[in-house]
Amino acid sequence: MKFDPAAKLQLSINLSAYDGVNPAICDSATFAFSRAELMSDTFEGKTEGCFLYSRHWNPTNQVLSSSLAAMEGTEAGWVTGSGMSAITATILQICNSGDHIISSITTYGGTYAFLQNWLPKFNIGVTFVDITDLNAVKNAVQPNTRLIFTETLTNPLLQVSDIPELAKISKENRLKLVVDNTFTPMIFSPCLMSADVVVYSLTKFINGKNDCVAGAICSSDEFIDSLIDVHSGTAMLLGPVLDPWRSSSIRKNLFTLHIRMKKHSENAMYLAIKMKEQGLKVRYPGLPGHPQHKTFKKMMNTNYGFGGILSLDMETTDNAGKLMTAMQDDGVGYLAVSLGYFKTLFSSSGTSTSSEIPLETQMSMGLSPGLIRMSIGLDQDIESTWKKIKNCLNKI
Ligand SMILES: *Cc1c(COP(=O)(O)O)cnc(C)c1O
Repeated sequence: MKFDPAAKLQLSINLSAYDGVNPAICDSATFAFSRAELMSDTFEGKTEGCFLYSRHWNPTNQVLSSSLAAMEGTEAGWVTGSGMSAITATILQICNSGDHIISSITTYGGTYAFLQNWLPKFNIGVTFVDITDLNAVKNAVQPNTRLIFTETLTNPLLQVSDIPELAKISKENRLKLVVDNTFTPMIFSPCLMSADVVVYSLTKFINGKNDCVAGAICSSDEFIDSLIDVHSGTAMLLGPVLDPWRSSSIRKNLFTLHIRMKKHSENAMYLAIKMKEQGLKVRYPGLPGHPQHKTFKKMMNTNYGFGGILSLDMETTDNAGKLMTAMQDDGVGYLAVSLGYFKTLFSSSGTSTSSEIPLETQMSMGLSPGLIRMSIGLDQDIESTWKKIKNCLNKI
């Protein structure tokens, strides 16, 4: 039987008698110890279940982290102030100066900029590859390679990473496979396909309300412990911890994620089919013509569909701009970056969230200047949304 993230999440709730059904927020930076030895033991990492200081652990953050770990099928999790801090803390925990990373060339623009422009400060090299070309990945391995970084569904080209195959390559070469699953929570469970670490921007689908920026790291107990080690943990020492008030509000939204993902997927599939019929250049992993449709199907958990993101190539910046403005004016959604909101959001990737990627690289990876990334909302009447989009297309 396939893993069901929503069922695991629901089973993870462990309520004692007379507890509030929604866990109370623990609004404290520091925690008192009953005895002096207990405090020193905690610093040594010898105590379990003791709270020290909220940059390290806080009960409210622990509740959200455990919920996310249950959803991912991992031993542990830790929550951060942004998706970028989850990604950067993970990479900096694994890599030392002089090490090397293999990364998908199509990633979130911030991740690309971190790998390409920021890591050279510490003499960490990166080889960017087409992540769907497994031979290219194998050939990029060097003696100092420490990790493979990819997104399960890449931003914004919607390529699908073959996680089990990438995990094989990383195991053979003793690398860590780090997967950003931001576009496809519940749809994919990368750690159950042998990835070592899964990272999230909670800002997107998981929270789904566009009211905050947050992130998460899910992995083994060993990896999370190393991240928050008081002497050497990257997360503990760089300090990107999430505020417990936010943890509490994100966790409430987490428990409706399964319903939202189904609806996002259903609506995106409907629009992708209509756009295809119309002869438009639409890319959506649920369409049988998508180059990695089969890989997606092989890996997906049942019931959550093919996700809420599609891309539409209008070929020129001008056409993309006109269509997006018309769609916003006609109430299809908002011309805004980000994704996973209940309203449809669209942006032209080349000039926004992927603008960190140089133009020549954008061209060589197939990122057209007219590419619109659409995060499809939870519209109740998607047929009327399609009618609006068709009217907008007719105006161009
Ligand atoms: C948004 C995003 C990020 C960065 O997350 P923040 O919460 O904005 O820091 C990383 N990866 C992907 C795939 C994203 O969409």
